[in-house]
Amino acid sequence: MFETIKKLWLPGTAGNPHGVCRRIALCNQLGLFGTVATVPYQLFYYLYDFAAYRGVFFANLMFMAVYLSVLPLNHKKWYNTASTVLLVNGCCHLFIVTCFIGTDAGVNLFYFSLAAILAFLYKRPGIPVYTAIMASLGVLYLITRFLFTSDAVITPLPSPWIDVMYGFSVGGALTLSGIVLYIFRQQIDHAEGELTRSNRYLKTLSNTDPLTGLANRRMLDAALEREWSRRSLPLSLIMFDVDHFKHFNDRYGHAEGDCCLQQVAAAAQGVITRSSDLLVRYGGEEFAIVLPGTDASDARQLARRLCTTIEGLKLSHEALGKGACVTISVGVSSIRYMTPDIHGRDGTHLLKCADEAMYQAKLKGRNQVVYLACYPRQREDSEHVVPAPLPAPDPAQDRSMLRNDGSKDL
Ligand code: GH3
Ligand code: MG
Ligand code: MG
Repeated sequence: MFETIKKLWLPGTAGNPHGVCRRIALCNQLGLFGTVATVPYQLFYYLYDFAAYRGVFFANLMFMAVYLSVLPLNHKKWYNTASTVLLVNGCCHLFIVTCFIGTDAGVNLFYFSLAAILAFLYKRPGIPVYTAIMASLGVLYLITRFLFTSDAVITPLPSPWIDVMYGFSVGGALTLSGIVLYIFRQQIDHAEGELTRSNRYLKTLSNTDPLTGLANRRMLDAALEREWSRRSLPLSLIMFDVDHFKHFNDRYGHAEGDCCLQQVAAAAQGVITRSSDLLVRYGGEEFAIVLPGTDASDARQLARRLCTTIEGLKLSHEALGKGACVTISVGVSSIRYMTPDIHGRDGTHLLKCADEAMYQAKLKGRNQVVYLACYPRQREDSEHVVPAPLPAPDPAQDRSMLRNDGSKDL
């Protein structure tokens, strides 16, 4: 039922953005309201004494027709014209009817309803125009109020009908203002809800890596800054990088490479047990784990577990030789306590240390953990998870590993 009625105020709304649709629909609704709200008055004139009230009756018919004309105007996309026709017709209608039956019928109270609706009728009305229209509405009300007293009107209404009509006008003006303001309040709440939801969604998007679903580098920077400023020491950081991943892509294709990164990310997530630890995709095939409140020994233990877990996935990497699988090189760094010379630095200092440790793990042959204390600085300490050398790559299997000059890119 409501859906059928709703179709009545849809002319002109199709293809417009939500906000514009609302404005056009309101204009159509008011056109319909002006027509429908006049019907009871018309019935009264017609049934009570048509001969005496035919002047106001025919005037009303004309105004009703103009109210309805906003529907075709909006349909033709003449939105501002439709709003102006509605406003001018409304003002004239109230003026003429009050002129016929007097201010005691309360019809001129609808000027206040028009004032309440005005702000929603136009697209961002300028303050001077808005103020001028409001002032005009006030002046029109005052003119009708003091000019058209019962002894100075064309066809005054007898008692008690004048009081009945006054009650009807008060009810109508309040209903119209109340309904419109209530609808807009609902729409504002809805828009605020939508905005909050989309903000939350955008924030999640901007902090998430789309491939792995892990937090991204932005989150890493924020977490490091937060933990550093909290002085939640000891603080450790693990960085790890998939070994020879370029060859993996060359051998198996980029899509398989993506799948490999997803599996590495999921496995690394499985190694983390504390909710305060944060695993992020740092970029490409590099990942990092922020470990607040974790000392060097626990961080190294976790790094070792990480190394063996990834190797344990047994993801074939035959570009490195028969039976070879995907491995990672891990750098670990920690801060035990703050001293004056570290106070001036920020979380990126720890990042640099872990990155340096990871670089050393690469240099030392990959698939291993290297620890480098960030502060206080200690002797580096590396450990090979798989001490045995990797099988020699089979050039016949993967020509992509050979450079143009014939040297191997490993
Ligand atoms: P190393 O052991 O020294 O780290 O060697 P590497 O080949 O892993 O390192 P390099 O930096 O030479 O190559 C990294 C490769 O990772 C190159 C790039 O195409 C690939 N890569 C980076 N991001 C993505 C990604 O999102 N998906 C895929 N499939 N590959 C990626
Ligand atoms: Mg790599
Ligand atoms: Mg890399």
